Amino acid sequence: MEGEAARGEYLRHLELVAQNTSNMVVVTNGNREIEWVNPAYTKVTGWSLDEVRGKNPKAFLHGPRTSLTAASRLGASLRKGQAVTDFEMLNYKKSGEPYWVSLNIQPVANDAGEITQYVAIESDITQRKRAEQEAARVLHQLAEAQRLAKLGLMEHDLSTGELRCSPEIYRILDTRPGEIKPDYDAVMAHLHPDDDVAVRSSYERAINGGDLYEAEFRLISKTGRVKWVHARGALEGWDDGRRALFRVVIQDITERKDAEQLQRDKELLEQASRTQMEVLSRISHELRTPLHAVLGFAENLDRAEGARISERSRGQLSHIRESAKHLLLLVNDILDLTRLHGGVVPFDLQAVEVQSLAHDVIAMVEPLAAVRGVTLRLLPASPALYAQADGQRLKQVLINLLSNAIKYNRPGGQVDIRLRDIEAGGVCIAVADTGIGIAEADQVRLFEPFYRVLGESQLQVSHESSGLGLAIARSLAQGMGGDVTVESRLGEGSTFSLTLRRGSPSEPRGSGVTPAVVPSENPGADRARGTVLYIEDNELNCLLLESYLAQHPSIVLHCCTTGVAGLARARQIRPSLILVDMGLPDMSGAEVMQTLLNDPVLHRVPCVAFSADSDEDAIEAAIRSGFREYWPKPMSRQAVLEALERLLADEPLKSRF
Ligand code: ADP
Repeated sequence: MEGEAARGEYLRHLELVAQNTSNMVVVTNGNREIEWVNPAYTKVTGWSLDEVRGKNPKAFLHGPRTSLTAASRLGASLRKGQAVTDFEMLNYKKSGEPYWVSLNIQPVANDAGEITQYVAIESDITQRKRAEQEAARVLHQLAEAQRLAKLGLMEHDLSTGELRCSPEIYRILDTRPGEIKPDYDAVMAHLHPDDDVAVRSSYERAINGGDLYEAEFRLISKTGRVKWVHARGALEGWDDGRRALFRVVIQDITERKDAEQLQRDKELLEQASRTQMEVLSRISHELRTPLHAVLGFAENLDRAEGARISERSRGQLSHIRESAKHLLLLVNDILDLTRLHGGVVPFDLQAVEVQSLAHDVIAMVEPLAAVRGVTLRLLPASPALYAQADGQRLKQVLINLLSNAIKYNRPGGQVDIRLRDIEAGGVCIAVADTGIGIAEADQVRLFEPFYRVLGESQLQVSHESSGLGLAIARSLAQGMGGDVTVESRLGEGSTFSLTLRRGSPSEPRGSGVTPAVVPSENPGADRARGTVLYIEDNELNCLLLESYLAQHPSIVLHCCTTGVAGLARARQIRPSLILVDMGLPDMSGAEVMQTLLNDPVLHRVPCVAFSADSDEDAIEAAIRSGFREYWPKPMSRQAVLEALERLLADEPLKSRF
């Protein structure tokens, strides 16, 4: 009896504990159906005893994020009659809110060993779990920040020599934990030989003197790559004053260092290129005047003494002239290139109608094509295409591309000039030839100044080439906001594509990259208007006159390189004025004049002889043959414009047609 009373007392105490504890208590029968829950259970979950009695806990406590694996592990343990301690699970309250519990479940067996009940004591660990998750999130963030900043941490335990490295240190060394011994010597062995002594001694000073450590140096990674790092460290002493932990933050700054090096190299290269261009520019200027003299005197000699000197000497004289002409072209090319590099070339950008410009250029290079037996074909675009360009510069680029396409073609070959619109507001002028083509290795260097392909076929024309044309063409195209690119197959041909921004005919002028429009030195010439035909075999002289007239859109210039082509063009366009070079390849200036005088329509067009020959007799002869004036070459821009104004302002002449 006494024992029973004591047991009753004990059970009452237990009930008191169960009723008042903040832990949840759940009693289930052997089938895991709830028999009893304490008030704390109702308080946490929201379920009352009446609502849950007879139910299996998992039927209403588990929810979408409850781990199925954890639930089945728990079930398996209980079915085997095993006790469960500190088992963590995510359950759901009556309100649907999730909460974490730590479960301690004790099976209760009867005398026969059968499990009749399970007593579960559960504590709500939601807050602890949240704190753990938050800590894990922060740790992950930190690890990510370190990875992205390429920032590693090294802790050097000075009493044991042990080194603890964060993952980024291993990444910097292109290795993994375990692949490198975590000690001072193993890590220091990765120092770049040139930095080794300095780093070791400054590090030693810092750990002994307690200074803040800061240095930039190179490491050699396990795969042999050189890595630049910035290191910053400080000593953490122990309370008893012994040396303790030296912490070093190491950042991989290889990318920054490489970029700095690249920038330095680029600046050095640019400086070298500037110096080279300056030297070239000076030499070219110095060469130009004597070259003009050589050309002029050779021409004089040929004309004045031609009849008296032997055939052999005349041949030699012709060589002198040809060589001087070639040199002059080269010198002028170099000057062009140096000016383009110096950024002092003005571009007068406006909407240029591409097709008629292409026609003009084709007419200029046709004689060369005829000599080489190459056919030129213009494949126009419809409707008309306008490019944002400087007309003279655009012509210069096209002349270069077309002359190359002819020069490096085969006899009977073809050159197609295709005009088309391209995406993103551009136009493309493609010059495709059926010539010798260019090997891939050469294509990369083609636009470098002085680069020439020295194949057998190129050697045949190498005396005409300087390797500057494409460099100038690309610089000019880029100056107009475009580019020149090449596609080619050896033995099949090449296509050079000039791309430019699309121009709109109504656009205001001069909205280009370098809006340095040269002011007119001779305002009077602005009043002159008319069409001028220039018959001249030297492309350079044509370009020169074109450049003089670039600022005078009211004067339209046509150039032809032979007498025959010039006469045909004159009949076609009926010019207001004709300028004739006296030394044309197919006819003399006097013959051209005579033909014009015999023409019923053209006989009254004023003609001017334009020649480098300043011999009195030559001038007299020209005037006698019908030329209205005789202009000596070279003539300054100012002089040309003044003379043009004078002739074009002549009213009776203009009303002739
Ligand atoms: P140049 O013609 O005065 O040598 P360029 O700069 O115009 O100078 O051309 C450089 C080199 O590119 C030429 O020497 C030639 O070997 C090659 N090249 C240019 N255009 C063509 C082309 N259409 N077909 C084959 N080779 C070409």
